[in-house]
Amino acid sequence: MAEAGEIVTPAWWLSWYSPAPLEAFELHSPWWVSGWTGDGETPILVAAVRADSPESAWSAVCAAYDDPPDAVEQRFCDLMPEGTNPFSDRFPMASWMAWGEDGSTCACPTHSGSDEHD
Ligand SMILES: [Zn+2]
Repeated sequence: MAEAGEIVTPAWWLSWYSPAPLEAFELHSPWWVSGWTGDGETPILVAAVRADSPESAWSAVCAAYDDPPDAVEQRFCDLMPEGTNPFSDRFPMASWMAWGEDGSTCACPTHSGSDEHD
């Protein structure tokens, strides 16, 4: 658990073409379907992920698939301004999402109330 004054891990605003159906994806950071490719077959996802680097943020995305790909087809990866959160009218907060000052990003039953979060 982060101590007061400790630097919170940077956050990245990511978007990519999902290499698998949504049923095969479970990321414990806020994420949304941003759209679909023209053929309607491929979800375009966005997510806010706390990680030390863009590379580790993408690793977290890949690891969220049941059959993790080596990489996903990226659209962008932007550093989020410190102290901001990813929630908006377009990308609303769901009950399982969190964006705590302690670095937490998920309020699902597994993670809420836990000291450890990754
Ligand atoms: Zn969780």
